[in-house]
Amino acid sequence: MPEPIVLKFGGSSVADAQKIKHVAKRVIEFKKRKFNPVVVVSAPGGTTDELIKEAHAISKRPHKRELDMLLSTGEQKTIALLSLALWDMGHKVISFTGHQIGIITDENFTSARIKSIDRKKLKNYLRQNYIIVVAGFQGKTPAGEITTLGRGGSDLTAIALAATLNTECKIFTDVRGVFTANPKIYKNAKKIDIMSFDELLEMASLGASVMQARAVELARNQGVKFEVASTFSREKGTIVCEEGKLLEKLVVRGVTEDCDQVKVSVIGVPDRPGIAAEIFEAIAKKDISVDMIIQSAAKPPNAVNDISFTVKKKDIEDVKQILKKIVKKLKAKEFSIKENVAKVSIVGSGMKTHSGVASRMFRALAKSKINIEMISTSEIKISCVIDEKDVKKAVKAIAKEFKL
Ligand code: ASP
Ligand code: MG
Repeated sequence: MPEPIVLKFGGSSVADAQKIKHVAKRVIEFKKRKFNPVVVVSAPGGTTDELIKEAHAISKRPHKRELDMLLSTGEQKTIALLSLALWDMGHKVISFTGHQIGIITDENFTSARIKSIDRKKLKNYLRQNYIIVVAGFQGKTPAGEITTLGRGGSDLTAIALAATLNTECKIFTDVRGVFTANPKIYKNAKKIDIMSFDELLEMASLGASVMQARAVELARNQGVKFEVASTFSREKGTIVCEEGKLLEKLVVRGVTEDCDQVKVSVIGVPDRPGIAAEIFEAIAKKDISVDMIIQSAAKPPNAVNDISFTVKKKDIEDVKQILKKIVKKLKAKEFSIKENVAKVSIVGSGMKTHSGVASRMFRALAKSKINIEMISTSEIKISCVIDEKDVKKAVKAIAKEFKL
């Protein structure tokens, strides 16, 4: 049996009839090279946003089960259209929704996790030489309810199918690969030839929108090597693989920016055990994810702390409500919210073994007269929260400093 390969095409690659026909041709190229393609597609570009708008035109807080019922239709349209194109070009093809092909998820509607995939059904159709076209971004609960996998979830479908079939995956999109910096901000940004799962996972989580972070995480955990490349050219893209396979561990692989950040500070909090737990438990209860957390060092005897953290813009109202209560309860002084902030980050696996990277980043920002409001680091990344108006300047300064 020819080797299966998973090919994923994003929304902008299947946005109209012409593009769908082009995708069909690209699929056939793989078939001719003796691969057995399993194709995953997104909804046509903009469709999912449209569907969400339609839901909100009817309901302020759309019921999640029904929202998934609606959102899953976008991808269902693409699988049928692409299959029609492939039949017309003389190829045996069959389309499946996520539920039909047996992608089983948990019950977490709109952001479900994949639990298992029916390998037998896939194998059965591959054996009969069908090109299989699967709707991305969706599955079903064990009880048969339709779920979706979070925005950008077609990437997750593709990686999960590749893991199930124990094969490689190509993520085709409208850019040539992963770049060292956002090319819209820094025009000299370069395409990265090869990088590690961890590096892309950090970059995707820190604002690079090229791939869904959860999909990269799954690829890392399952060891699914993949390539991010352009639907519209035959040029090599970016290979993403285990760190051990990289010849060169760059200190800084890339810089990212994320403007969807709000800085929240709780000021004058008594310095005693359990305070941080109180604040962040209340926030976690509302399902709000907190990113950076910084606590100032309290000076005795009247020790009080300032605790600052960042959340996403959509969560501001909820956070305000929670903090009003908490500030009173803990007898803190007050809280403040700064909306116009952004986070710039550098990522690179070589950071583990090199020192002086942080100071170079800070110096580059300082030379551009950019004030750093918060800092956080991990083994392979350094992030700074700055004023949103400085974001472009910051990305350029950092890209130049590290020759990205
Ligand atoms: N159509 C879904 C979205 O827009 C899934 C995807 O494109 O991967 O989020
Ligand atoms: Mg997409």
